[in-house]
Amino acid sequence: MKNNAFDLIVIGAGSGGIATAVRAARHGARVVVIETGTLGGTCVNVGCVPKKAMWFAAELAEAQRIARDVGFASTPGALDWHEFVGRRQRYIDNIHASYRQRFAASGIELVNARGRLLAAGRVVAGAEEFTAPHVLVATGARPLRPDVPGGDLGIDSDGFFALRAAPRRVAIVGGGYIAAELSGVLHALGSDTTLFVRRRLLREFDEEATHVLTESMRARGVDVQTGRHVVAARREHDGYALEFEAGEVARGFDELIWATGRQPNSAGLGLAEAGVGLDAQGYVVVDDRQDTPVAGVHALGDVTGRLALTPVAIAAGRKLADRLFGGEPDARLDYDGVPSVVFAHPPLATVGLSEHEARRRHGDSVRVYRVRFRPMLDALAGLEHRTLMKLVCAGSDERVVGIHLVGAGVDEMLQGFAVALKAGARKADFDATVAIHPTGSEELVLMS
Ligand code: NDP
Repeated sequence: MKNNAFDLIVIGAGSGGIATAVRAARHGARVVVIETGTLGGTCVNVGCVPKKAMWFAAELAEAQRIARDVGFASTPGALDWHEFVGRRQRYIDNIHASYRQRFAASGIELVNARGRLLAAGRVVAGAEEFTAPHVLVATGARPLRPDVPGGDLGIDSDGFFALRAAPRRVAIVGGGYIAAELSGVLHALGSDTTLFVRRRLLREFDEEATHVLTESMRARGVDVQTGRHVVAARREHDGYALEFEAGEVARGFDELIWATGRQPNSAGLGLAEAGVGLDAQGYVVVDDRQDTPVAGVHALGDVTGRLALTPVAIAAGRKLADRLFGGEPDARLDYDGVPSVVFAHPPLATVGLSEHEARRRHGDSVRVYRVRFRPMLDALAGLEHRTLMKLVCAGSDERVVGIHLVGAGVDEMLQGFAVALKAGARKADFDATVAIHPTGSEELVLMS
């Protein structure tokens, strides 16, 4: 008879669930992972990975235009989406295969069914019941559309990944990561793109950085309309139409993309029945050790709504596995100083406190250093694109508490500077570092 007694049951094989399972197995735990869908969850299948592929395609399209501007005798060609999406999918298939190999090598059992918590330590999946002293809920999240008439029309980010051509004229509704990223990609790939933002773009980010991003997107040709609250959508003879609070209507869109946030996959898992708390939006409530109030039931990643970023879920999962099975009773993820990049065109990279938040916490001791410049390649091409680099420092020793970058290449620039911020670097440490010339990143150590 099959032994369904494990050390750890993981519900959800996204980035967080897989990372926890693999680390726990490495510590010797017997692990089962329960998943109804495809391995890798949002990030691998309908998030970071295919998004970055599309962002690369958009970058290449922009590079072709810049090449022409600086004197290459080339005419930018259109993307063959079928060819590119085929390559994108093969890349994803390889990730799936590597996960399967890792599961096999680690002795992790994979069950293709929907898991449901019966009680602490007991999970049912399909016709089977599994037991373990520890259960991890890592079921992720999915797109959320606004509750307005016509909210079911058009597509969301999942639908974006099913596109096989750039729409001629597209309306994107939302102002977060996904709205900023998809509008940049579609514009670069040839769509006439309008972004309708309810308040301001990336409202939680440093305001100056998001202002520069908004201006840069507009300079590239994306029609970014802020303060536009959509109250209804409809399908008319010439495409989608959007109605706004003030009564105006924008019409004639071939495609409509809702990028209005996400909602947790927490329903139907038996969580509330088992005593696991859900907040008003359905997110699983956990403490700073990823524990729910039910002993032995843990949760992490997007289903907890806390910093919905893949590397955060992975890091939290590894810490959890180290704590439960690796003999590290104090292991937990430090959620402060998490760097993040919005893969817009241009990208925006950020770590630490916005200027506003720094002033709220540290008052008059805050000093801001900033530089705005035209990158060399853009100057050569005669483009007016601007880069912003901003250091937010606090205290008499000018500890760097926030770094905000907007411009070409900042996506690859931030990681090292995030290490410096995490390590408690002062402005004087930046000043003491000799610049690498000519680069964009040298500006970060040359500010005065
Ligand atoms: P976000 O939470 O980033 O943003 C949601 C946006 O939707 C906000 O701008 C919000 O506006 C807007 N919105 C909500 N309801 C409405 C409405 N009824 N009408 C108009 N606008 C509305 O959500 P995303 O879905 O973009 O991304 C989800 C999360 O996924 C991100 O927060 C991030 O953690 C992660 N992610 C990370 C990426 C990365 O690391 N590069 C890429 C993509 C996603 P308002 O500000 O007015 O509330």
